[in-house]
Amino acid sequence: MAVTENQNAEAIAARYHQQKPSHPGQFHVHRQGPVEELSSKLVTDREFKKGDVIAKLEGLSPGPKRHSSVQVSKTEHVELNSDLYFMNHSCDPSAHMDVDNKCVSALKDLKVGDEINFFYPSTEWDMAQPFTCWCGADKCIKTVTGANKLTAEQLNQFVLVNHIKELVAERDQQ
Ligand SMILES: [Zn+2]
Repeated sequence: MAVTENQNAEAIAARYHQQKPSHPGQFHVHRQGPVEELSSKLVTDREFKKGDVIAKLEGLSPGPKRHSSVQVSKTEHVELNSDLYFMNHSCDPSAHMDVDNKCVSALKDLKVGDEINFFYPSTEWDMAQPFTCWCGADKCIKTVTGANKLTAEQLNQFVLVNHIKELVAERDQQ
């Protein structure tokens, strides 16, 4: 099962790597290391001010939950089908994956060459493959897992999408 998932991950990464830049002049994929290490990152080609829309979420396709998908409601997951796929996780994110408003927006002023990343539990309720975070932020959650495994206190330090706020409220009601 894990092997299959890894093969899928490599195949998906390789497919995205072969595509032309999806947002030229806005941001690009900075490739580092071999494709199979999934170690690339997304960096800006221009400045963005806090609150700016970095990209609209367009051309999404619904699909099963997997490492490459983003959760867009309590029950639905999509593939991004663009270089936005390369957004890494950070506990001090530069951007918000704003699935409620179908865009990625800047959470801080960004210079050319800054990394565009987001806080994965801000959209993901349950992550099949938690991983260790080395971002070094003061509020680093250390183990990146779905919002279902984090306390409201932890989560409230971050900008969250509506379905995560609702699911946390439902969970903590009991
Ligand atoms: Zn972190």
